This record gives sequence, C-alpha cells and structure tokens, in this order.
Amino acid sequence: MQTGTLYTVSAPSGAGKTSLVKALVDSDRDVTVSVSHTTRTMRPGEQHGINYHFVERDEFLQMLDRDAFLEHAQVFDNFYGTSKEWVQETLASGRDVILEIDWQGAAQVRRQLPDTVGIFILPPSQQALRERLTGRGQDEQSVIERRMDQAIDEMTHYVEADYLVINDNFDEALHELRAIITAQRQRLERQQERHGELLQALLRH
Ligand code: 5GP
Repeated sequence: MQTGTLYTVSAPSGAGKTSLVKALVDSDRDVTVSVSHTTRTMRPGEQHGINYHFVERDEFLQMLDRDAFLEHAQVFDNFYGTSKEWVQETLASGRDVILEIDWQGAAQVRRQLPDTVGIFILPPSQQALRERLTGRGQDEQSVIERRMDQAIDEMTHYVEADYLVINDNFDEALHELRAIITAQRQRLERQQERHGELLQALLRH
C-alpha cells in the first residue's frame, strides 16, 4: 500500500509559515498538518486541538516517558512535541503529513526517518521579519528583540533543508510550496507505487 510523504516545514517565527501551510492543506486534501503538543499558554485567537494540543508540563513529561513523541523540543521556556502514533497512522493511510517544527525537531525526525523532505521558509529581509514580528502588536520591545535573535539563530539552519522558499509574496510562496509537494509525488519511486500496473502494461510487447 502506498504511504504518504513526511515533510518538515521550518522557519523563523514571523516568516509566514503557519499561514502558508494552512493555505496549502486547505486546498489539498491529500496533505495534512500535524497538530503538536505544547506546554506554552494559548495566545488570543488560538484553539485547543486546532493550533496545538495545549497540555500541562506534567502531562507532557509523562508522554515523553511513554516515548509518545516522534520528536520534541524546548523553545524559549516551553516544550513542543509531535505525536508519533498520529504521524504513523496518517502516513500509513496514504496522506502526506507536514510537521511545522523548528530545526531541532526537523533534525530529530530526519535521523529517524531519512526519507523526510525538509522545507525551509525565509522572509525576504530582516526588516520585513522585524515588521512582521512587531505587527502582531501583542509583545513588548524586549520580547521582539528576543524573538529577532531567536529568528536569526533559527535561520542559520536553512542549509539543512532540501527546499527553500522565500516568502516575499504570499501567493508566489504558496505556489512554490505546492510545486514542491507536486514534484515529490512525481518522483520515480512514488509513481512506481501508484502506477505499478500501468508501468508493467506499457512495457508489454
Ligand atoms: P510558537 O510558540 O510561536 O507557536 O512556536 C515556537 C516554535 O516552536 C516555532 O519555531 C515552531 O515551529 C516550533 N514548534 C511548534 N511545534 C513544534 C513541535 O511539535 N516540535 C518542534 N520541535 N518544534 C515545534
């Protein structure tokens, strides 16, 4: 049976990753995004089970003990993790899965599942990134500076990805993201899985 492809999508906070991934999965039923577990508090507008599974620190640590995470990371003072069972089941059902995770998580996943495809989304400039971080209007200046530093650290890891998308224009970036998913589906080994009978029939004398 054909299994889905696993993608990691990494980006500094403020690069537009979440909006791009949402637009992608909303327009393609064969690709879905994993909802991570996190110990961070909910931001205004966020929903439990949609943006994250928001859990207490104790619960997160218990899940960690049970080996329930495919990968996990600490970002700022909070824990984030990806459910191993959900990812395995979804891939087995034939759907592609996107993990919106930072570079630490992406590296952990790649070590376990080397066929994972890594995508990195970058902003068009530091200035644009700063404006996007400031534009949220929810954080103080010192928090924004801390986020800028963190964003720059995150961006140094772009070299570990297979594909780079510069998010200057949203529609163009989305188009590029779709093109990556499409290209992966046309890879020889995927097409052999999908069209085994056709390929045999075409070569019959
Ligand atoms: P935020 O708190 O702004 O939603 O996310 C902070 C950072 O945590 C982002 O870089 C995001 O990609 C990362 N993140 C979110 N979920 C996960 C996860 O399940 N695993 C890992 N490793 N990173 C995550």
